[in-house]
Amino acid sequence: MTPIKDISFVNKKALIRVDFNVPFNGDSISDNSRILAAIPTINYVLENGGSCIVISHLGRPKKKDKKLSLLRIKHELERLLNLVVIFVEDCIGPEVKNASETLKPGQVLLLENLRFYKEEVAGDEKFAKELSSLADIYINDAYGTTHRAHASTSTIAKYFTEKSPGLLLEKEILSLKKVLESPKKPVTAIVGGAKVSSKISIIANMLKVIDNLIIGGGMAYTFILSSGGKIGDSICEPENLGDCQEIIDQAKEKNVKIFLPTDVIVSQSFSNNDKQKEVDIQNIPDGWQGLDIGTKTRKKFADVIKQSKTLLWNGPMGVFEMSSFQNGTEAVANAVAVATQKGSFSLVGGGDSVAAVKKFNVKDKISFISTGGGAMLESLEGKVLPGIKALQ
Ligand code: AMP
Repeated sequence: MTPIKDISFVNKKALIRVDFNVPFNGDSISDNSRILAAIPTINYVLENGGSCIVISHLGRPKKKDKKLSLLRIKHELERLLNLVVIFVEDCIGPEVKNASETLKPGQVLLLENLRFYKEEVAGDEKFAKELSSLADIYINDAYGTTHRAHASTSTIAKYFTEKSPGLLLEKEILSLKKVLESPKKPVTAIVGGAKVSSKISIIANMLKVIDNLIIGGGMAYTFILSSGGKIGDSICEPENLGDCQEIIDQAKEKNVKIFLPTDVIVSQSFSNNDKQKEVDIQNIPDGWQGLDIGTKTRKKFADVIKQSKTLLWNGPMGVFEMSSFQNGTEAVANAVAVATQKGSFSLVGGGDSVAAVKKFNVKDKISFISTGGGAMLESLEGKVLPGIKALQ
């Protein structure tokens, strides 16, 4: 893979695939993080004598839809780049071709939502070739879509001799390498969230590199049930009991220590204000469900985290969206921040864990926060992502 720093952009046009799939609140963008994350790459190309043709998807349109036009992003992009951005209401065709041909070094051209064409998601060759004809160099900076074999993320790359990951994608790849290839030991993976079924293959792949596995959140109850505990009305996936036992057996074989909760906060319903108490996780009474890890567990998990040199965190320890059940996730977030400040490397990814580090104000104390939910999970499963493979 050619690093962006090895490419000359002087008088060249770079087609940059970004992820501007941002949330809106009415007419305004409610979280501009994804646009912000693409700015360094765009600026890098401009500062090095090139021009940028920026392409992205927004939402999941079936056809042209004004509500999902990238025109809604233009103003924010102009504000963050501090320059005028040219916008064309299409991403292929004569008008786009004309705008790209007249584009001068230092200028930015933003094209319309790629997914207005069904060919984008289909990975269509003709569509990809037409897009590629607009520029000299291809840059992919949209980590969040690298697990998709779409026209603009995968098919397109073969039409360019000069191609490279953008600065954001480069950081994502490096961070994953730090965790999966040559991590400083001890390595601890912290996994949580509602379902064990969605994380089984990640855990199985991680067992090759980790020393400790901390399991919290809703998924812990299937593990507890699989080893004979009584989990009351807690969330559980009985069809995965065998998988949990297999993980426990494989961990033993590979000398990986598993830390499961020992105490939990239970409630009589899935609500913030019903009756609550702290109980032994092996003996949850019927009519009660576990919604957060208990005080002894928080302390134990924090101790393990603080002794680790490499940390990977995906998934909350409880229903942290409700104030009564946020303490466990907050304790883990704080412990990861403390370990990082003492020199450990921490990688946090997945929508809910990212929301948690923001909520508990430790966002700036984490080594790297991944921008890709599904893409990060697939990388951790050991899959080669089509968008990354295409750049090689
Ligand atoms: P996931 O998308 O699988 O990472 O799950 C994240 C969701 O899991 C969050 O919305 C949490 O509220 C939820 N969650 C965490 N712990 C529990 C639990 N003990 N019972 C039910 N839901 C939980």
